[in-house]
Amino acid sequence: MYSSMTWIKLCLFFSPEMCYGRDFHIRILLPMDLQLKNARIECGWSLKRILHGYRHILKQRLHSCPDLVSFMVELKTVLEIALKNAQDLHIPRPPEYYSCLVRDLEILGWKRVAFVDTGLTTVKLKAEDSCGRQHLITLKLNAKYPTEPPGCLVDFPVPFAVSWMPQNSLIDIYNQFLAALELLKEFWDALDEIDGKTWVLEPENPTRSATTRRIAIGNNVSVNIEVDPHHPNMLPECYFLGADHEVNPLRTKLNNNMHLWDPEVSLLQNLRELLEIDFPSRVVLEKSDFSKECGICYAYRLDGSMPNHVCDDPRCGQPFHQACLYEWLQGLPTSRQSLNVIFGECPYCNKPLTLKSSMKKL
Ligand SMILES: [Zn+2]
Ligand SMILES: [Zn+2]
Repeated sequence: MYSSMTWIKLCLFFSPEMCYGRDFHIRILLPMDLQLKNARIECGWSLKRILHGYRHILKQRLHSCPDLVSFMVELKTVLEIALKNAQDLHIPRPPEYYSCLVRDLEILGWKRVAFVDTGLTTVKLKAEDSCGRQHLITLKLNAKYPTEPPGCLVDFPVPFAVSWMPQNSLIDIYNQFLAALELLKEFWDALDEIDGKTWVLEPENPTRSATTRRIAIGNNVSVNIEVDPHHPNMLPECYFLGADHEVNPLRTKLNNNMHLWDPEVSLLQNLRELLEIDFPSRVVLEKSDFSKECGICYAYRLDGSMPNHVCDDPRCGQPFHQACLYEWLQGLPTSRQSLNVIFGECPYCNKPLTLKSSMKKL
């Protein structure tokens, strides 16, 4: 499917001092709709080998980062940890390393340990927050442990930096992890309520770091919200997806009722009151009631994306993948293109339509 799409290439070069004297080139391929979650990362075999164990983390970051810049910050952190560990694996560890690590694990308690690799270099710890949610933290220990802190990887919507002194033990990181979980409690409470009570169309299986949700409102109408992890009870950034005649009244209600937002009330309840709607309930309706397939490729998901353009004619309302529609219109002699905007007709009802090549924000 990738070959049929236009990709924007971005070549990155990581500086030698950061990469222990080595140069790396990474190419990030963005699809035409600039959706980061559908991006592809390409790099040489040596970097590929280094990043091998971090693929799921990079994938998760692609899904959760709001833009390319924040993904680059995350990528740099992951790369630094991966490089440090890749180099570090070949350094023989002194006996003190093992005795110290085993002592630290005993202090921490084995019931909190979810995984330890055979080389005793990667440790995963599990924790439960005060609402009973399970969380994992992955620690990558280098040969200089405990003089140097382990690299920490977590599924958070915000960066997690540990403060560390050589006399510290794993339990200090664990306690910092628990404290960080409590700071994110309200954020996860707000999103858990949305995930539990509404039909979330995207992301398909949200991770704990995911800050956006596209919530179904009706047939081919949805709202995408981006929640601030630090202020989950504030009005999130909202944009609507659907035909103009459905979406415009919702936009108006949101603007007119903004003053009604009450930080003491849950995010979902606030959205209900501002938009003057009840989101379709999971109890009565099926997800398939909202997930109508694209009128061009007849699939619902294309490279992970749901149809994100709807014909404006109220009698038609056919949804399309923006990429499918763009390609379709480009192939027609009746279409007209001006820079990144294409003017054509709906393949179903012939109503004139305008399509921009980037539709990230509607
Ligand atoms: Zn399609
Ligand atoms: Zn139409």
